Amino acid sequence: PFEFQGKHVTVAGLGVSGVPAARVLHGLGARVTVVNDGDDARAREQAAALEALGVTVRLGDGATLPEGTELIVTAPGWKPDKPLFAAADAAGVPVWGDVELAWRLRRPGAADWLAVTGTNGKTTTVQMLASILGAAGLRTAAVGNIGVSLLDAVLGEEEYDVLAVELSSYQLHWAPSLRAHSAAVLNLAPDHLDWHGSMEAYARDKGRVYEGNRVACVYNADATDKPSTEDLVREADVEEGCRAVGFTLGTPGPSQLGVVEGILVDRAFVENRQQNAQELAEVRDVDPPAPHNIANALAAAALARAYGVPASAVRDGLRAFTPDAHRIAHVADVDGVAYIDDSKATNTHAAQASLAAYEPIVWIAGGLAKGATFDELVTGAAKRLRGAVLIGRDRALIREALARHAPEVPVVDLDRTDTGAMLQAVREAQRLARPGDTVLLAPACASMDMFTNYNKRGDAFAQAVRELGA
Ligand code: ADP
Repeated sequence: PFEFQGKHVTVAGLGVSGVPAARVLHGLGARVTVVNDGDDARAREQAAALEALGVTVRLGDGATLPEGTELIVTAPGWKPDKPLFAAADAAGVPVWGDVELAWRLRRPGAADWLAVTGTNGKTTTVQMLASILGAAGLRTAAVGNIGVSLLDAVLGEEEYDVLAVELSSYQLHWAPSLRAHSAAVLNLAPDHLDWHGSMEAYARDKGRVYEGNRVACVYNADATDKPSTEDLVREADVEEGCRAVGFTLGTPGPSQLGVVEGILVDRAFVENRQQNAQELAEVRDVDPPAPHNIANALAAAALARAYGVPASAVRDGLRAFTPDAHRIAHVADVDGVAYIDDSKATNTHAAQASLAAYEPIVWIAGGLAKGATFDELVTGAAKRLRGAVLIGRDRALIREALARHAPEVPVVDLDRTDTGAMLQAVREAQRLARPGDTVLLAPACASMDMFTNYNKRGDAFAQAVRELGA
């Protein structure tokens, strides 16, 4: 175990991971300095609370490595090319993220981790997985971006048998010694490339989730992208006996889970050796039963089965699961038009999944593109579009893609990024829609140019729809 007593630890970044990390490290006897780029009112408030404990905080200077630093614990979002990390590298100082810290602080004999990463579907999949593990009578929680924080799950009073852990590519980048029981990469599509630098670097960081797996590396057998998640499994260094297990929306091969005539079946973990497949659940047990969500259910089932969960618990757990807000949520029908909130579609790959589920669509899109291009998304959706309403900072990228690939689709370009723009966008969408159509908020972009987060964006959409109906 790592000895923190008296160690000089620098925590990079206040905020959701930095504040609890600083508290925990201070509690372990480390001499903690927090460095933070910003020094706004919120940061000052957080700093004051930490300083009262005896933690040193430097606001407005996240670049300089504090003298004597022996370890950096960074917020996962900090880019690897920051000067702080170059300084750490030169001084031979290790850098851990919040996940690495939690992993190192596990108690002996603590819960196994079943890890989930991927471009889209992580939260949904860990929630399905926790539901399945719970149905099997195991003490568990969905941890990561949602529900319980990792540090709380590892250090809190509650005891767990196994954790369903959501991990982002950033977190994996900074978690070199993490070794999950089993892990799944759901899919790989370009996202956060401005952070990782390239698709290869992004894929490599996602692939770290497989390192050291003991029982199963779960991959997407339908993916056509390169590198595929199966390529990442092949490259990973795993424990002896660990298996590659695929999931597919088609008929499964040996060592795969898949779908046969509306039934989710498992050919990887068969309980009765006389059979070559085990029925798990029906497609209609999955909510919503859209293809991308069946894939999530299969990945969750694969991890649960790797952990030894019986088929009946997979079925019960999937039936008990209901999706979170802002993920293809039906808000209301107004004058025969359905209004759907998929504010969580913060990248093109996610938006593609919901655009494929409706027709005809009046599409509300735009926001921060994060370096993405929209040609493929627009080409695939063109035939389904009744019209498009564009909002947000990077909307010109989508407008230009529409002009190239769907010139006949009417586009309303709202030149505004204030929060009130959503009401106008919904009104414009209503004007374009005909009875039977779907107005779909699937922005394909991040929300932070206009809203605090995607929840607020989805709430603004729902509020605007309610005003239409009123
Ligand atoms: P994450 O935690 O990875 O962001 P979520 O489960 O919150 O994923 O889903 C985010 C969005 O991605 C949803 O709004 C949905 O439109 C889309 N989505 C969910 N699962 C998938 C999938 N397997 N493939 C593609 N898109 C998906």
